[in-house]
Amino acid sequence: MEIVKDKFCIILDSLSKEAKEGFDFFCSELQRIADEYELLNKVDKLEVVCLGTMYRDIIVSAGKVNEKEDEEGVYYFFASCAMLSSAKERVTQTIQHELMHIKDMVDKEFKFNNRIWKELRKDNKLSGLIPCIWNIYVDSRIAKMKKIGISKAQRSDEFLYASRQLNLEINRKEIGNIFERLWNIEKIDFPTIINKAKELSRMKRE
Ligand SMILES: [Zn+2]
Repeated sequence: MEIVKDKFCIILDSLSKEAKEGFDFFCSELQRIADEYELLNKVDKLEVVCLGTMYRDIIVSAGKVNEKEDEEGVYYFFASCAMLSSAKERVTQTIQHELMHIKDMVDKEFKFNNRIWKELRKDNKLSGLIPCIWNIYVDSRIAKMKKIGISKAQRSDEFLYASRQLNLEINRKEIGNIFERLWNIEKIDFPTIINKAKELSRMKRE
């Protein structure tokens, strides 16, 4: 696996010394965590792009995810340049989280299917619920590895918030119970995440 970074990182010149060091740390964490997650032979490259000064965003795209070289197999994640000069912990948290999604996508047992996902995203509730459940699965595993990640409380709040935004007909107590069950799942695959999202979107208030 190669980290491609020089081509599109022109704005780095305009960053402070602190932020530049933060960027080096960002790239070294990509390498370290990709190694830890055993992605080095499964993803051919991670391309880091620093966007223009207006947004100062970093985009990381992973090539050849899900065994395809076409666009369908590419996973993107976004990070803010603001984090480069903030706490290192934030950088590690973000990369641990995002690379865990990639780890799932390249895992045959996870059965990720980008074509189906693209189709489901047209449904407002499912496009909100699927990432929500997948995020819980990602962060609960990071928590079980005793790493500093997005906390259970924070994920729980987000789940409650999403349930309100999506007008799910489930009361607060039941949302708490559902979250608890999702957080404790040991292993799940993408088709099961989809089914759980469909189940939630169809639930009716008792
Ligand atoms: Zn995520």
